[in-house]
Amino acid sequence: MAKKDRRTPQQAFVTLRDMPGTRVMFWVVDACPYCGERHLHVAGNIRSDPGESLGEHPAPCNPERPYELTLPPRPKKKTGKDARRKARRDARADTWDEDSW
Ligand SMILES: [Zn+2]
Repeated sequence: MAKKDRRTPQQAFVTLRDMPGTRVMFWVVDACPYCGERHLHVAGNIRSDPGESLGEHPAPCNPERPYELTLPPRPKKKTGKDARRKARRDARADTWDEDSW
């Protein structure tokens, strides 16, 4: 029987956030597969392709256990302009307080 590979990266679904007032973008792991907390990974700036920084990263809470930054599956439902705006507002409400940076 094969040993269980503890190093197999878990998938961590990310959302892309930009930092208001800067050109820095972050991948936000809303729920870490290991600790359930939120982690941030710098995705680069708006000039670079943030997709290039997806993939395997060590989990900040446990560097021995990498996880794989993955975009969540897109919902099939078409989202109109209002839904997108609402989603953005929800995302903002859900994120950090801008002033705390
Ligand atoms: Zn974690």
